[in-house]
Amino acid sequence: MDNNAWEFATLAIRAGHVRTAEGEHSEAIFPTSSFVFGSAAEAAARFGGSEPGNIYARFTNPTVRYFQERLAALEGGESCVATSSGMSAILAVMLGLLKAGDHVLCSRSVFGTTTLLLQNYIGKFGVEISFADLTDLADWEAGLQSNTRLLFAETPANPLTEVVSIRELAELAHRNGSLLVIDNCFCTPALQRPLELGADIVVHSATKYLDGQGRALGGAIVGDAERVGKDVYGVLRTGGVSMSPFNAWIFLKGLETLSLRMKAHCDNAMQLAHWLEAHPAIGQVFYPGLAAHPQHELARQQQSGFGGIVSFIVRGGQEAAWKVIDSTRMLSITANLGDAKSTITHPATTTHGRLSAEQKRQSGIADGLLRVSVGLENIQDIQRDLMQGLGEA
Ligand SMILES: *Cc1c(COP(=O)(O)O)cnc(C)c1O
Repeated sequence: MDNNAWEFATLAIRAGHVRTAEGEHSEAIFPTSSFVFGSAAEAAARFGGSEPGNIYARFTNPTVRYFQERLAALEGGESCVATSSGMSAILAVMLGLLKAGDHVLCSRSVFGTTTLLLQNYIGKFGVEISFADLTDLADWEAGLQSNTRLLFAETPANPLTEVVSIRELAELAHRNGSLLVIDNCFCTPALQRPLELGADIVVHSATKYLDGQGRALGGAIVGDAERVGKDVYGVLRTGGVSMSPFNAWIFLKGLETLSLRMKAHCDNAMQLAHWLEAHPAIGQVFYPGLAAHPQHELARQQQSGFGGIVSFIVRGGQEAAWKVIDSTRMLSITANLGDAKSTITHPATTTHGRLSAEQKRQSGIADGLLRVSVGLENIQDIQRDLMQGLGEA
């Protein structure tokens, strides 16, 4: 059977795996830093690039390659580069594609560390950074400059789950001769494939749903052979932001169940969102699957599921929100997300705690806002755990 004809769930289990002569069924882990050549001429040919093959594990390792090829197949991209973390994936994109004098236009609602990476570090090297309101295409357009090289966005965004049209943002970018980079961490390719919608590059924190069980740190970049396969790969080869083969193996196992897990996350999140929406202690619920969500229609067209992140405002501000957190017995109090275990976070005092009161107001980070990464536990147990602080629905 032609591998190209495989459906998503099959690719997630089968793509990219090459068995060794041992005939192992599960993917082999190669804990080796270097590889041996048959002759001086073969070593020279490998280093020179005239012969393919393994050289040194900073930039070639079979287990990491299995993962890269599998994720490339799932995102529908020509090339994938795996990295040590989601942040190093974003760093490698910036180092590989930008030069002094370029401009990056970034969504205001991205992962906080991404904003810091751009402002505090990439900005040091003569790259201009500015920000646009994720859901306002006119604001993106107004922010474009002749030197804008990259547009960077996450959709849905954290923690308020706002959604932007990837297709329209890609058109805007391309009309300006710029590239669109999408952080696809919240949806994963199981729910959203940005390259098919016109984005040029996808970045991932594999730490979240791709692993799915909170075990390992990793990241990846997917896109075309020129920019990702050469320019970004060059940063990995020389800069060494490499993924360990042990972690690549964990992510391979994670990908095998990705479709099933994402479906179960979506089902649980949808039920929780409806339950919260009807709860008298809740002021507002943020979930793209709700008809009341401002971009519900767009999310329905762009995504094949609404994801596992649900945020909501508890009446009574920070005190009431903290009471909900401190009354839970099962939900994990941690800022991590995309895990089989449900987690609960108070953004205003953790992930967004460094924002000023005015910045919080502007970005909608209310004192009573809670974010739940809805896990795979029984939904009634999740609701019962929240009920201890919220009261009965
Ligand atoms: C966690 C996260 C990152 C950073 O990934 P790490 O693996 O923690 O470095 C980037 N983007 C999003 C949306 C994230 O949630």
